[in-house]
Order: sequence, then structure tokens, then C-alpha cells
Amino acid sequence: MKLLVVGSVAFDAIETPFGKTDKILGGAATYIGLAASVMNVKSGIVSVVGGDFPQTDLDMLSDRGVNIEGIEIVKEGKTFFWSGKYHNDLNTRDTLITEVNVLENFDPKIPASMQDAEILLLGNLHPGVQLSVLEKMEKRPKLVILDTMNFWMDSALDILMEMVKKTDVITINDEEARQLSGEYSLMKAAKKIHEMGPQFVIIKKGEHGALLFHEGKIFAIPALPLEEVFDPTGAGDTFAGGFASYLARKKSVSFETMKAALIVGSAMASFTVEKFGTERLQEITAEDMNRRIKEFKELTTFEVEV
Ligand code: AMP
Repeated sequence: MKLLVVGSVAFDAIETPFGKTDKILGGAATYIGLAASVMNVKSGIVSVVGGDFPQTDLDMLSDRGVNIEGIEIVKEGKTFFWSGKYHNDLNTRDTLITEVNVLENFDPKIPASMQDAEILLLGNLHPGVQLSVLEKMEKRPKLVILDTMNFWMDSALDILMEMVKKTDVITINDEEARQLSGEYSLMKAAKKIHEMGPQFVIIKKGEHGALLFHEGKIFAIPALPLEEVFDPTGAGDTFAGGFASYLARKKSVSFETMKAALIVGSAMASFTVEKFGTERLQEITAEDMNRRIKEFKELTTFEVEV
């Protein structure tokens, strides 16, 4: 099963209580593509960068098995740039700069080699762009996964709702689920979001794990408690990438497979936050993943009798 990824390929400048970076490699699609490569899943990225984007980063993605034919290079343009500063708790951050640059007039083109993708992961981007990608697929993929955020709820709600209607799995965080549904209870929020379209609703709760809702059933996982969180940037994208890649690996989109996929996504995100940007994700192997998944199992398995 091939995974088609749409999202930003970007430069990020990040400041956390532990340090600061200049412009480094970032972007939602970058994290997702790297997650797929750790899982040995064939993926392709549809995105756009400027002439200032290093060929070495494109080569790095390509060498790792990510199809980059769909990454358009606008020679005279500048790559999307995002800069953020995390607060001391690392759970909240301020966006300092967003320079949309070449993403402003992005007209996604899907390479013929990716038209048969069975899973489409729409990374956080303008919902109009996400929708246009789905419309450009000759055949509807088996599964459409949508990642979005409050920014689009504030600025492009109508088109976001249109996108949500065509989505199978939505991943959003708890505050965004509350905003989208108008409900405080996450149970009620998930119910309302189901009614908007998605049969599967994933609500991420940062350091408190994630919930998966489907047809009245609910599955919960914790986040792995880590001694050190260095930089949370890309955790959500890595989570979505790990989740989608596991489904692609297992060639299944059932609720049972999604439960395991949630663990994989969460385990992979726990690596991303250990170093700045994509650095840690570029280091880890399938064996590292298996070790961490084992830790997850030990954390959550118990027998009890009264
Ligand atoms: P996350 O920490 O999972 O929310 O994702 C962070 C990544 O999202 C960074 O690498 C940014 O380059 C990218 N990003 C931030 N804002 C936007 C935006 N408005 N559109 C597309 N990508 C963005």
C-alpha cells in the first residue's frame, strides 16, 4: 500500500528552553515522509519549495525511499518559513513568524507514479489545497486521513467543513476538537465530529496521549513519559505519519489495526521530541521503534484481581 503525503516542506527556526536553531529542515510533509521511511513504507510527497531549498535535503528524502517527484521547485521563489518559541512547559508555543512564500499560490500536482496511492494523508495545510488534492486523484484512495488545526477553523471554516465531510480519519488535538464541535466533553465532541463525516476521530492530548473513536467504540493510549523533551516541533506530524505508515504496512484500515497504529504513531513521536527538528527521526531504525513499543506495552499492561 502506497502512502501519498501532502503538506509543507519548510524551513523552521525553533526556540525552546534548551536552545535555539537557525533555519533548519522542517515542514509537516517532511516529518511524515521520514516517519514512513522509518517504517519502510513507500511514500510520495506533494509539496512546493523555493530555489533556496537545499538539494541535499531533497536527496536525503529520496535516498530514504521517499518519492519526491511531486515536490515542485519554484526557482525564483522562497521556501515556506515558520518560526516558533516554546514556553517553559513545552506544551504551548508562540508562532513568531510565518512566511508562506511559495505555499501562497501552491497548485498541487500529483505525479502519475503516485496516482495509485491507497492512503492519502493530508498534512496540515490550507483546506482548499487539501481538497484539491483529493479531487485530483483519479481514483479515491481507500483511506483519507486529515490533519488540521485551529488556524484553519478561524480563517477557512466553510472549506474546512467541506474537506472534513470527505475525510475518513481526522486527527486533531483536544482544544481543536472542542472548537470544531462546540462541545467541552471530548466524548460529545467526537460524536459531533463523526456527524460531520469522519468515521474515525483521533483526538491528541499532547503529553497525555490520544483517543480513537469509531462507531461508539473508544480506545485510549498514554504518551510515553520521557525524562527529557527537547523540542516538540513535528510531534503531531510524526504521529500521523507513523499511524498512516503502519496501516500501509499492514494493508488494513480496520479499527483493530488502527489501535496498534496509534501506538506506533505515539512511539515515533516520542523520538521526534528528543532532539531539534527532524534530527532524531533521521537517526532511528525499526529496531529502536520495536524497543520503544515494548516500553509502551510494559507501561500499559497489567493484571488485576479483587
Ligand atoms: P507540529 O509541531 O506537528 O504542529 O508541526 C510543525 C511543522 O508544521 C513545522 O515544521 C512547520 O514548518 C509546519 N507549519 C507550521 N505552520 C504551518 C502552516 N500554516 N502551514 C503549513 N505548515 C506549517
